[in-house]
Amino acid sequence: MTALAGREALEVGARRLAPSPHARRDAELLLMRVLGHDRAWLLTHPDASLNLAQSQQFESWIERRARHEPVQYILGEQEFYGLSFRVTPDVLIPRPETEHLVEAVLQRVPAERRLRICDVGTGSGAIAVVLAHALPQAELTALDHSCAALAVAEENAERHGVTGRIRFVESDLLAAVRGERFDVVVSNPPYVADSETLEPQVRDYEPHGALFAGATGLEVYRRLIPEAREALDTGGWLIMEIGHGQREGLAGLLADWDAVDFLPDLQGIPRVATARRRS
Ligand code: GLN
Repeated sequence: MTALAGREALEVGARRLAPSPHARRDAELLLMRVLGHDRAWLLTHPDASLNLAQSQQFESWIERRARHEPVQYILGEQEFYGLSFRVTPDVLIPRPETEHLVEAVLQRVPAERRLRICDVGTGSGAIAVVLAHALPQAELTALDHSCAALAVAEENAERHGVTGRIRFVESDLLAAVRGERFDVVVSNPPYVADSETLEPQVRDYEPHGALFAGATGLEVYRRLIPEAREALDTGGWLIMEIGHGQREGLAGLLADWDAVDFLPDLQGIPRVATARRRS
């Protein structure tokens, strides 16, 4: 692949990645990064050619993608709620569905209050950073059992200028902050059942500790919900992402909470569970 024009490189790349449904989009994202330009530039400069180093870089990225490595890990970036986040294989790639979780928090809390919010299993820090950004009075605690993930989360907080309002703590769920009180506990915990088949790009590349909960998929909620109950003030909100088909299971686990509700994602699948601590 030497001295190709951008347009040809895109064709070659997209063909190599077919039949993936996103072959063309992925080839385009990789080409944009190789050339250091956005989509509009690519469209208006289809004949601009790649130099040798750029061709080799593009080819090696296309090969990685062809082996199912997520394009976000290749580029080290993912956008979430309008902000750009650094991602590495130590953290789950933020998903568009998880934006509903952020929205659910923002719709329920008063922006002007000095809220104490705890993000359990922060991963890349996407949820905590977006909340810190959107709620300038809030004090965030971001917990994760993975030190490597916390390092990525801290980098993302720095990137978006919110390090002063997020405390990062290594913790198995809420264990490290036992005795503290919060107004909101938010979490996108692992909820995939061990027997579930995931796409190779998820299964082979994303951290299993962030995905798999155990035999039923509800195992982490069984520990998280009572711990959150202890950590919340009366009337405090617990807001969690849930998996496909977990609504009934969650309703059972939240039986002694108030204001239990399930919010659908864009496909109409219940995706977020909300509940308030009863006194
Ligand atoms: N939504 C993710 C997936 O299906 C799972 C995220 C999670 O377990 N929290 O790949």
